[in-house]
Amino acid sequence: MAKEKLYGKTLNELIAVTRKLGMPGFAAKQIADWLYKKEIGTIDEMTNLSKKMRELLSNDYEIGLSNPVSFMQSSDGTKKYLFRVLDNKFIETAFIPDNDRATICVSSQAGCKMGCVFCMTGRQGFQGNLSSNEILNQFRSLPEFRQLTNMVYMGMGEPLDNLTEVLKSLEILTGDWGYAWSPSRITVSTVGLVTSIIEFLEKSRCHLAVSLHSPFDEERKKLMPIQKTNTVKEVLDIIKSFDFTRQRRVSFEYIIFKGINDSPRHVRELARLLNGIRCRINIIRFHSFPGSDLSSPGMEATIAFREALNAKGILATIRSSRGVDINAACGLLSTLEQNKT
Ligand code: SF4
Repeated sequence: MAKEKLYGKTLNELIAVTRKLGMPGFAAKQIADWLYKKEIGTIDEMTNLSKKMRELLSNDYEIGLSNPVSFMQSSDGTKKYLFRVLDNKFIETAFIPDNDRATICVSSQAGCKMGCVFCMTGRQGFQGNLSSNEILNQFRSLPEFRQLTNMVYMGMGEPLDNLTEVLKSLEILTGDWGYAWSPSRITVSTVGLVTSIIEFLEKSRCHLAVSLHSPFDEERKKLMPIQKTNTVKEVLDIIKSFDFTRQRRVSFEYIIFKGINDSPRHVRELARLLNGIRCRINIIRFHSFPGSDLSSPGMEATIAFREALNAKGILATIRSSRGVDINAACGLLSTLEQNKT
C-alpha cells in the first residue's frame, strides 16, 4: 500500500499522526520543524526523534517530495517546470526572476472546470484537485526554492475551487511552525467564486487577485462562463465589505483583447465599477495559442488603455510579458506532455 505523505500536512494534521502512532505530543512540532525549516528529504534524518519513533513513522509515512520531470527556460530567465501529479497528469509551475524579486507561480488543480475561453488549461477540462502536498511540492522542489521571495497561485486551475487544500498550503507557508512567510508575499487569484472568496478572506491574510477581463455582464459571460452564476457585482460587494486598507491588497487582472475589451467604453465602466475600492488593475497582454481567435491589441493600444484608466483615477499597470518564447500561455506545456503520454 502506498505510504501517506508527511510533507504538506499542517501542524494539526501532524498532531493527529503522532497521536495515532502513540508518539509524545511534542513530536508533531519536531516533525514540522524537520519538514518545513530544516528541509530534510528522509524520515531517517529526523534525528531528534528516537530510532523507534522514526521506524514507526516510516512504516506508514514518507516525506513525499518529487522533482519536476522537465523544464524549459526562456531567454528572459523565466522557467517553466512540469510536475507529474495525481494519476500521471501534468501541471506547470513558473519561476519568474525580476530584479530583486523571484516569484513562483503555482498550480492548484490539474486542468480546470472554469472554461475561460482565453485559457489553454480551461480547454483541458478538469482532471483533479491537487493536494496540499502537490501544491507545496512545486515550491519546495523548485531548484530555485531558496531564492524565492513571492508566490502567486495563478497557475493551472482555480485556487478557490480547491479551497481546503489551498488554505492548508497557505497555513504551512505562513505558520510560525511552517515556512513563516508573511502573507503579504502571497497572492491567490480567482475568477470570483462568491462563497469561497468569503471563506478565503476570513481564513487567510494573503492578497487577492480577481480575474475581471470585462466590466460588462454579457461580454464577461462570453469570456468567462463563471459570470453566469457568480457575477462580478456580487464579488465586488464582498470585497467592499472587507478591510483592504492595511497590509492586504486586492487587485484585478485584466487580459486585454483586441476589439473585445479595449475601448473607452470599457475604461468608463471599469472606473464606475471599481469606484471606492482601493485596488490596482494589472493589464496583461494576451499570448495567443493554437486554436484561439483572440488577439492582443498591441503595445501602443495597451499603453493608451492604461493611461485612460490612470486618468480616471484607477491605478493600472501593464504586467510585463515573461517567457513568451517558451509557450508561457498557461496550460500549453502540460497539454503537449499529456498528448505525448
Ligand atoms: S483562466 Fe484560470 S480559472 Fe479560467 S480556465 Fe484557465 S485556469 Fe481555469
